Amino acid sequence: MTPTPAKVLFAPMRSQMKRSMITRAGSLLQRAGLKSVIAEGGLVAIKLHFGEQGNTGFVNPVYVREVVRRVKEAGGRPFLTDANTLYSGERSNAVDHLTCAIHHGFSYATIEAPLIIADGLNGRDAVDVPVSGRHFESVRIGSAAVNADAMIAVTHVKGHEATGFGGALKNVGMGLGCRSAKQRMHADFKPEVTAEKCTACARCVKWCPVHAIAITPERVAAVDYNVCYGCGECVAACPYGAIASQWKTDATMLQEKIVEHVAGAVAGKEGKTLYLSFVTAVSPDCDCWSFSDAPVVPDIGVLASTDIVAIDQAAYDLVTAATGLTGSRGEGMAAGDDKFTAITGVDGTRAMAYAEEMGLGTRHYDLVRVE
Ligand code: SF4
Ligand code: SF4
Repeated sequence: MTPTPAKVLFAPMRSQMKRSMITRAGSLLQRAGLKSVIAEGGLVAIKLHFGEQGNTGFVNPVYVREVVRRVKEAGGRPFLTDANTLYSGERSNAVDHLTCAIHHGFSYATIEAPLIIADGLNGRDAVDVPVSGRHFESVRIGSAAVNADAMIAVTHVKGHEATGFGGALKNVGMGLGCRSAKQRMHADFKPEVTAEKCTACARCVKWCPVHAIAITPERVAAVDYNVCYGCGECVAACPYGAIASQWKTDATMLQEKIVEHVAGAVAGKEGKTLYLSFVTAVSPDCDCWSFSDAPVVPDIGVLASTDIVAIDQAAYDLVTAATGLTGSRGEGMAAGDDKFTAITGVDGTRAMAYAEEMGLGTRHYDLVRVE
């Protein structure tokens, strides 16, 4: 039996009626069912990627301001959110993360909504959410996202060096996992201490939830692998980068783990999530890099849906259907070529297939063009 297709609204970049794309993006949300997603007075998490310092591919704040305005109009109380990164950069703790976001134009003064880092100051403010997945029985999601009444994920669609494709599933699953969750997604983790970098400060000893780390008489941290359960907290805790991540997980498993975190992030929010995806400035790499390479296809437009799987599939298909841009890594690619797989070397469609298997949505969709 063919599953019922999900509705994906599509505002193409071409504005035949000469209407602002800001207004059109807001209208898409409205038409996708914003009012039914938001309860009067409800706290609404607007999940974003604020972009690493130096990156320019993230969603333009003028669109986010419009999303905030529409949420308020619908009776909600919006806040902007993302969780801290695992890697050291400009977003690995809430202070740096908020500073980076403000530098990129996401401040109360411009957006008129507060910014709350979902997993708190150091990435430890997270909630264990049970999931029935192939890899995890529970996932740790930033508490601000878990405790919000509703969520709107605003996504910049792009390629990704590890997952092939960066869409709404990646934005929500990897994005809202706390730092240790990100570690668990990325690796079958056994922490390794680099003795030369270790100052024996014992910060990791204090943070390890199962007391698996001790400082040896030689003044170096040592991990008891019989006790360690691979949560990754010590990597996040070490201020000297003395504990290494092991990036062993293959791309298929990584995508599945991300999807299980999506299941955790949307648990309890049935009918309370909405997705807005920008298929614009489609860079070959993630916005976590401190640069943005040339877009691989022309700007295509904006999508909205209540179905996280359908909106990703639609975005993927629209990029596949476009012609690669001269001067980009998509140069020479024809309409119909799978740009993401060709550029990244990773088949990024496993996430959508697994998300469908997990009941998070459907890859079958009706694309409804909206002026
Ligand atoms: S990975 Fe987690 S359990 Fe293992 S040593 Fe580090 S903090 Fe402890
Ligand atoms: S936190 Fe880092 S530097 Fe400090 S004891 Fe642990 S491994 Fe060594």
